[in-house]
Amino acid sequence: MTTKTETMDYDEVLERFDPVLGLEVHVELSTRTKMFCGCPNAFGGEPNTHVCPTCLGLPGALPVVNGSAVESAIRIGLGLNCEIAGWCRFARKNYFYPDMPKNFQTSQYDEPIAFDGYLDVELGDGETVRVGIERAHMEEDTGKSLHVGGATGRIHGADYSLLDYNRAGVPLIEIVTKPITGAGRRAPEVARAYVTALRDLLRAMGVSDVRMDQGSLRCDANVSLSPKGDEAFGTRSETKNVNSLRSVERAVRYEMTRQATLLSRGERVVQETRHFQEADGTTSAGRPKETSEDYRYFPEPDLVPIAPSSAWVEELRSTLPELPWERRRRIQQEWQLTDEELRDLVNTGAADVVAATVDAGAPVDDARSWWVQFLTEQANSRGVDLADLPVTPAQVARVIALISEGTLTNKLGREVVLGVLAGEGDPDEVIASRGLEVVSDDSALTAAIDEALAAQPDVVEKIRGGKVQAAGAIVGAVMKATQGQADAKRVRELILQRCGAE
Ligand code: ADP
Ligand code: MG
Ligand code: ZN
Repeated sequence: MTTKTETMDYDEVLERFDPVLGLEVHVELSTRTKMFCGCPNAFGGEPNTHVCPTCLGLPGALPVVNGSAVESAIRIGLGLNCEIAGWCRFARKNYFYPDMPKNFQTSQYDEPIAFDGYLDVELGDGETVRVGIERAHMEEDTGKSLHVGGATGRIHGADYSLLDYNRAGVPLIEIVTKPITGAGRRAPEVARAYVTALRDLLRAMGVSDVRMDQGSLRCDANVSLSPKGDEAFGTRSETKNVNSLRSVERAVRYEMTRQATLLSRGERVVQETRHFQEADGTTSAGRPKETSEDYRYFPEPDLVPIAPSSAWVEELRSTLPELPWERRRRIQQEWQLTDEELRDLVNTGAADVVAATVDAGAPVDDARSWWVQFLTEQANSRGVDLADLPVTPAQVARVIALISEGTLTNKLGREVVLGVLAGEGDPDEVIASRGLEVVSDDSALTAAIDEALAAQPDVVEKIRGGKVQAAGAIVGAVMKATQGQADAKRVRELILQRCGAE
């Protein structure tokens, strides 16, 4: 381990080395059932309730391929501009791990369903980088282990481990990039922008709920360095468990610096998996990297090959939705946004949710300001991505509507949204349970107004004498007394009435 003070400065890293990246993204498909059996594919649930002989790997149980998962795989391949294989098979990837009861993972190896594509990725300043896609293949997820008793949550030091096979056999697509070269200083940014673009694409296609925080989209980041100008790639590390967009960027940057520090001291980079630590943004060594020989891959004998006809592929191509970047261009025109406004939307990750909020009936400007300001602050303070906040565009649209009809003030609206984020239910439920509605009922207001008038006789004199601006002080006092729940416009009217200044 190197300490902070010995670590090479980022500028120096780039003077001496060129980074090469490779990103592997696993995405869980949101099909109704699992990849090779009829068990429900649903996040959570009581442990070991979504299981059957097939996904538990019991002897004699036979798998059947989930057709709708194959459809999603082909659509993803097409969205990534890939070739679709006319014929391909599954393979067994053999290894023992307690969360994988068959002792092999059914995956694709040298015959992926989709290969050789690209994704155009837009960076923060509007520049576009083309990332090559090597392949997108089908496989199944493992179960989950919970190691109890240790300090780190890892198996080392644990007293015992619990296993939940609900996730075993959930359909996964692994999308692997070609080596990304030439990104230089911007490598961390490119990595983040790629995962963002991929997530947006998958979400638009409706094939996955792409929640990095729940693990339905997971990214492994491969990083290596070559001495400046050297064509040959250096030895790579593979950082696992990077579960937010921000972490992807931090992990790549950390690895670049760590490796540069090692190399400049004449030490070697070890080819290994590493773990990213959210808390301090560092990575730590995992296990040495297996080679494909270690896995003893062989074609899965229990499943028939997959041979999509070109008619089927073309039919699936016609179901591709408007792609996120096309939608962005259209939104920019329709909403008349400047390049900079569009970039703000895209950079905060708000474009999709704002569009969905507009679709739910909110005016564009309101939808934009809610997501780009208040909700972005909330996401940042919770360390999650905007789209992962537990509030839906429809709920935000509802709050905006309640504000514009006067049922809520802006301040109350924010409180309602905080209630939704805290899991208290829909906006209307939060309003009811927290008692947040604006008070515009005159009888409820007059008591507070009379009290405020009595407390400030000098102000009353001014108003009576024609200085109506002075009413502001009384309005403020009433708003304070009603904890911001009064309808300020109505309060002002009532004050002027009572002072005979109308
Ligand atoms: P593995 O089975 O080791 O995970 P994959 O082929 O699935 O290998 O993924 C490796 C990823 O790393 C790919 O995205 C590939 O383009 C990339 N890659 C390969 N060599 C290097 C390297 N020297 N430096 C950085 N990335 C690399
Ligand atoms: Mg891999
Ligand atoms: Zn099952």
